[in-house]
Amino acid sequence: MNEKIVIVPCSGIGKTYGTVSREAAYEVIEELRPESAQLVPLSMLVLGEENARAAVAASPAITIDGCKLACATKMVQESGGTIAQDFAVLDVFRRNRKLKPQGIAELNEGGQQLAHALAEEVAAVVDKLNGKVETGDEKLRSSAPCF
Ligand code: SF4
Repeated sequence: MNEKIVIVPCSGIGKTYGTVSREAAYEVIEELRPESAQLVPLSMLVLGEENARAAVAASPAITIDGCKLACATKMVQESGGTIAQDFAVLDVFRRNRKLKPQGIAELNEGGQQLAHALAEEVAAVVDKLNGKVETGDEKLRSSAPCF
């Protein structure tokens, strides 16, 4: 199998949206797609750690940022990685306004559900990158005549 898709959540220490970002990333790599996604900590990229840089050089990355400063996205770019999709927690919240996150060390119920909704979106992108989801073109080709 190819290298695992890289997930880079922002560190967002002390910020609710940062916690949502990290919780979503953990759910993807530990529960939803452990076989096809791996987490690369932002702090390791910031430090220029060799394995972290090699991982983002080898696979497309999905970044998750807790605010518009987009630290995860910027750091992957600065590390020479390719970003397949960048998620912003605020955008996911806008799509799920009922799920109002609160808490920092520990998220409230709304925050946990928001992290789960985000994790599902990230997992769908992982599948797409791994070719597990047919694109419109593929559907068209598979229904084309055999001549
Ligand atoms: S993107 Fe925002 S919340 Fe995340 S680490 Fe950067 S400043 Fe903090």
